[in-house]
Amino acid sequence: MRIANLSGRLTLIVDGKAIDVEQASNGGFSADPQAVYERWDVFRTWAAAADLSAGAAFDPADLGSPAPAPRQTLAIGLNYRDHAAESGFAAPEGLPPVFTKFASSITGPVTEVKLPGGGHTDWEVELVAVIGRRAEGVAEADAWDHVAGLAVGQDISERVSQLAGPAPQFSLGKSYPGFAPVGPWLVTPDEFDDPDDLELRCTVNGEEVQKGRTRDLIFSVPALIARLSAVLPLLPGDVIFTGTPAGVGLGRNPQRFLAAGDELVSTVEGIGELRQTFTA
Ligand code: ZN
Repeated sequence: MRIANLSGRLTLIVDGKAIDVEQASNGGFSADPQAVYERWDVFRTWAAAADLSAGAAFDPADLGSPAPAPRQTLAIGLNYRDHAAESGFAAPEGLPPVFTKFASSITGPVTEVKLPGGGHTDWEVELVAVIGRRAEGVAEADAWDHVAGLAVGQDISERVSQLAGPAPQFSLGKSYPGFAPVGPWLVTPDEFDDPDDLELRCTVNGEEVQKGRTRDLIFSVPALIARLSAVLPLLPGDVIFTGTPAGVGLGRNPQRFLAAGDELVSTVEGIGELRQTFTA
């Protein structure tokens, strides 16, 4: 099942067509995309039995994030060994670095992003997981049962402000407007042959800059849910950015950052793509 946010309304994508959930359910479910996660099990049951044949064509530019207003966004740093190495850090043990991308930075999949002045704006393609069932003290073996689905995320990062001062400013440097595109929709875990092994790719102006597989995550999606939910409850609709593989601009020699006019395309196998263009 593919769940989208089309022009701010909860939508199912079936065979490439959009079905408005509030209309198809005769008001049984709210049009608010964020509200569905509170009723996730009921929604899955309804969607499995509903007549979803009357879809309409849509423009991907009208898609928003499938989880546009999470109560918590948890983003994971240094979760691939090759990226930790290119960043000059040791790979984490026990618990990886965790920061947030503030909710105002979340957007849909096709956007124009203004580059912060004086900065070094960088790309990080990531698998994003959205929580469908409250998770508190969840064992790794049970963790997938708490995931509503997976989406593509870009953890766009301004490196000057991220790394300024006596301690890194991860959350602020990664939360400029438009710095957290998520989409193009949420794909439920049952849609994948193996949700723990998906290819991620990222191109700048058509040139491949990142390519990795989620099987190389140091902390897999279930491992992250177990470790995070041992500290705090993960709430329905919460968003987890799971970390990026090697190939970011900061780790290149010479370093390379995004410029006005650049087009960034981020894909995850079995989900779809994000497309960002950058302006001065
Ligand atoms: Zn990241």
